[in-house]
Amino acid sequence: MGGRAKRILCKASGVTALATALTYAVFFLTRALSDRPFTSSDLVECFFIPIAVGMPILVFLFRQSEELKNAHAELASLNEQTRKAYQRLRLSHEIMVYTAAHDSMTGLLNRESFLEHLRDAIANREQDVLLLADADNFKQINDRLGHLRGDDALVEISRAIRMTVRHEDVVGRLGGEEFGVLLKGISLTRAMEIAEKIRRQVEAIPWRRSTPDMECLTVSIGVAAIGKDIGTAAAALERADHCLYAAKKQGRNRVTCHDPRFHCEEITVRPRQWRRRVA
Ligand code: GH3
Ligand code: MG
Ligand code: MG
Repeated sequence: MGGRAKRILCKASGVTALATALTYAVFFLTRALSDRPFTSSDLVECFFIPIAVGMPILVFLFRQSEELKNAHAELASLNEQTRKAYQRLRLSHEIMVYTAAHDSMTGLLNRESFLEHLRDAIANREQDVLLLADADNFKQINDRLGHLRGDDALVEISRAIRMTVRHEDVVGRLGGEEFGVLLKGISLTRAMEIAEKIRRQVEAIPWRRSTPDMECLTVSIGVAAIGKDIGTAAAALERADHCLYAAKKQGRNRVTCHDPRFHCEEITVRPRQWRRRVA
């Protein structure tokens, strides 16, 4: 006999014994109160009726109760497994969402996510400023130091940008050695100051310590306000890119912006100096 059957029989026997004792007590009491004698057939009935009727019912009930308990434990364990599987799935989903939105090398937003932020900002007519920062002469770095050191340089540049901008600003790697920054709710003058700070921060990366024969890492930055008139993300990118191109043309390692207030196509700062070029 299995342990489970023994346990059920034990419980059923215990309760049956109690029921038999109670039956005897009730019989004795009723016989005593009604002044009738307690016969030997009463004695047999009091013994067998609880056993014949109660025992099978009790065995059935205790078996049902055990089965219910087991089913409950199984359900609890399944529930726990489902909860853990759900947690794993949620974590995988979060990792997937993060991976889909970020550049794996620098940890910045990837191009598509950055453009989404840019489109949203334009659609909501926010007073943001777009910066396009492009590493200068990057091909030379790869050619002279190898692609891996080039990757290190990109990580250093992205770190310098991230630590210079504010918490609410959006930073992305738009591709290759080009980065986008969306400075949120800011004036063009303040944005130019931050862009210049980024330029200096990149220039200050201790890059030459490990490569003394090379020049500093530098970036050129194009700046464009994306206020009311800009219309589309493509137009904003084009405007910032136009300024970036001007910064490259003027010798690199500088910040150039488009500022309609001065009726200029571009204004260039380097360092802390404003030079206007009237269009
Ligand atoms: P400019 O100052 O005009 O921007 O010159 P540049 O050399 O930086 O520009 P160019 O477009 O000629 O070259 C860009 C280089 O960036 C070439 C490409 O191999 C390198 N590059 C693009 N993506 C990566 C990358 O993920 N890792 C590394 N190491 N290099 C990259
Ligand atoms: Mg470049
Ligand atoms: Mg480039």
